[in-house]
Amino acid sequence: MHIIKQYPELNPQLYHQQSPQPLIGAKAGHFNQALAEQLQWTTQEQEQWVEYCSGQKSFADFPSLAMVYAGHQFGQWAGQLGDGRGLLVAQLQDQNRQVIDLHLKGAGKTPYSRMGDGRAVLRSVIREYLAGHALTALGVPSTNAIGFTTSTQPIQRETIETGAMLLRTADSHIRLGHFEWINQYAPELLKDFVQHCITWHYPECLTAQQPILAFAEQVVRRTAKMIALWQLHGFAHGVMNTDNLNITGSTLDFGPFGFMERFRPNWINNHSDHHARYTYQQQPSVAHWNLWVWLNNLLPLVQETEKEQFKQDLSAQLAHFEPTFLEHYQQGLSAKMGLPNFHKDSFQCAMNFLTILQSEQLDYTQSFLRLQHKQWQELRDDCLNLHQFDQFVEQYHAIRQNQDQQQLDAEMQCHNPRYILRNHMAQKAISAAQAGDFSEVDRLFQLLSQPYTHQPEREHLADLGPLPSDQAEISVSCSS
Ligand code: AMP
Ligand code: MG
Repeated sequence: MHIIKQYPELNPQLYHQQSPQPLIGAKAGHFNQALAEQLQWTTQEQEQWVEYCSGQKSFADFPSLAMVYAGHQFGQWAGQLGDGRGLLVAQLQDQNRQVIDLHLKGAGKTPYSRMGDGRAVLRSVIREYLAGHALTALGVPSTNAIGFTTSTQPIQRETIETGAMLLRTADSHIRLGHFEWINQYAPELLKDFVQHCITWHYPECLTAQQPILAFAEQVVRRTAKMIALWQLHGFAHGVMNTDNLNITGSTLDFGPFGFMERFRPNWINNHSDHHARYTYQQQPSVAHWNLWVWLNNLLPLVQETEKEQFKQDLSAQLAHFEPTFLEHYQQGLSAKMGLPNFHKDSFQCAMNFLTILQSEQLDYTQSFLRLQHKQWQELRDDCLNLHQFDQFVEQYHAIRQNQDQQQLDAEMQCHNPRYILRNHMAQKAISAAQAGDFSEVDRLFQLLSQPYTHQPEREHLADLGPLPSDQAEISVSCSS
């Protein structure tokens, strides 16, 4: 592997240098060999993946560190946060010379642990491992992981669980909350920090007339695109706080999260979200709010006399959010539907389909797949309001008439996954893993590697649909 040092170049007030504290009885969980290869791990390094993924072996020439940041949690200023249970253990150059962070989650207490124990449990590590892998394979920008290890160390949560560690990869761990911390606690560092963010992550903005505004615009646009992709795949983040969004618009920090099954726009995947702040349908507006908080943290970069103008300029960057979101969402939805994006009635027709899914409580992923396979009878059989369904079908055919249907069908095939990570699938793999059997984790890992490809030899019937409506949904909380 090719290690480089970016973050350790920054002012030491922004992090605390320390080594991981291994768990008792660390052992293999699962290894993503393809990703290790992309990151140019040699055969010998790959053979030592358990040591790397359990904090027993450190990455040469990189001073591992906990980052400090702050944030707004559930809409409230939370003050200083920071890596309370994870360390940036290395930064690597991948095959394409892109810099990738390696972050070891569950590596022990840091000065930012507050009341926490610095650990992660096997349940949440498996959920994060599979979800990051699933989103990546779906084409949604996301953190991913090289692998995870389990242990024999008991960890107290709502019950006693098993300690585990995850070696996460990310194009950046710089969160919106980093800027909030700097403004609150070390404002003199802001200018240099922003300059580094642009140089590392948005070098194309350096030559813009106003690099900071160009940077702000790109962060807004990338975040909007990520949220559009989440929505298209029915993914919802359960803790979309400003400390859990990064500046590169890739999905970060899976605590509670979920892939929606039955289509319910007001679905909450996190049972600790008592005010329903992070429902599926609220995610775009919450991201917009988070970006607004973030942009305000760029204001100190200009002199007092320029502030008013700069405020307006920053607002103009935030205004890119909605059209960018809509552009990606509408385009993606048309592709999922097999409808031409330019047709004036396509979006309304797609909305009519979603209305049916909502009122009939149908499975989001499965219904799009049925549409793709033209399983009209199966879809109709699940509806109570047949008039509504028949009207939709009529409109759908009318729009597709005289279009290049072959092309539209081909689009559907690469926009409608057959496999998503349903909560009950993850739960089954977790239960087996807690008993020492990782074969179900491996099966899901393989299945989710190619979510658009039918894998009859690997799939189970339960992978394709939600739990029957008389079975209780698995509830996910912040405790991880
Ligand atoms: P989250 O919203 O789950 O990403 O975490 C919010 C903050 O709590 C971050 O600063 C985490 O590092 C910290 N945190 C979460 N769980 C623990 C833990 N078990 N020990 C220490 N810090 C934690
Ligand atoms: Mg977090």
